[in-house]
Amino acid sequence: MQVRILGSAAGGGFPQWNCACPNCRSLRDGSFRGKPRTQTQVAISHDGRSWFLLGASPDLRAQIEATSELHPRVPSVEVALRQSPIAGAVLANADLDHILGLLLLRELQSLRVYATKSIRRILTKDNSMFAMLQRIPNQVMWIEIMPGAQFPLLDPAGEDSGLHCRTVPLGSHFPAYVSAPRRSQLAPLEASLGVFIESPSGKRLAYMPAVPRLNDFVLKQLDSCDVLLFDGTFWSHDEMICILGSGQTAHEMGHIPVSSADGSLIRLAQVRHPRKIYVHINNTNPMLNEAGPEYRQVREAGWEIAEDGWRFEI
Ligand SMILES: [Zn+2]
Repeated sequence: MQVRILGSAAGGGFPQWNCACPNCRSLRDGSFRGKPRTQTQVAISHDGRSWFLLGASPDLRAQIEATSELHPRVPSVEVALRQSPIAGAVLANADLDHILGLLLLRELQSLRVYATKSIRRILTKDNSMFAMLQRIPNQVMWIEIMPGAQFPLLDPAGEDSGLHCRTVPLGSHFPAYVSAPRRSQLAPLEASLGVFIESPSGKRLAYMPAVPRLNDFVLKQLDSCDVLLFDGTFWSHDEMICILGSGQTAHEMGHIPVSSADGSLIRLAQVRHPRKIYVHINNTNPMLNEAGPEYRQVREAGWEIAEDGWRFEI
């Protein structure tokens, strides 16, 4: 399985347009030891020809242009002028930084989008601009994911890409833009998923950009993976409150923090098999600073902190 990390930041990116936190400020003035990042986006492929997106970030247009594998092929007698190696997308949640990129994939391009019934309902019933993805038959084909079920990733023509997916429900956190009446009609287990992708050779990738809580069942699943892309949004529970003076805790925003007694560093210390990589890192997170103690602590615990442009094969 080929994996490309096109973006690694949380919503807003790094730096964020309206943020003057210590990280964003020092990145702008050139004194920061660390890298800027676009909003989290991963692409996977088995054969290097059909690619599937994990989520669809608001930075997707630039991320595609920065990744030659995702460019349209040279037109010929058999190859049309307008086409794309991007075959589809798997949606783990309905957060804006995870789904806005779908709107950039209009232009009458055929795609399969894998999503739970609740996520599809939020997008297509309540947000009329998503009708741009349904202008012609078979433009975007929505494939319903049942949490826990296994399914193959098919290209728009229906051919098996070789990659198979399974999802686990991770929490009942729907985005703030979903109205209370709509929320009451949705299935909480369909709100936020962890996605496991398996290649024909049995290699496994786990993708979990938003993890509100962890249970023993999920932890056990993680140990059978080869690579883990995990929620690195916040360093601490009260990170936003400390920086802004008000706001929500990490938990209220649907994320377990990296540090603290119930944070991912400690909870996942027992998960030893996979290569462990943090993604979806918020611009306020001190572990972005490569000169800081938090960065050192994470690296010494065996974790990596994803950067835009990383590519690897598993
Ligand atoms: Zn900031």
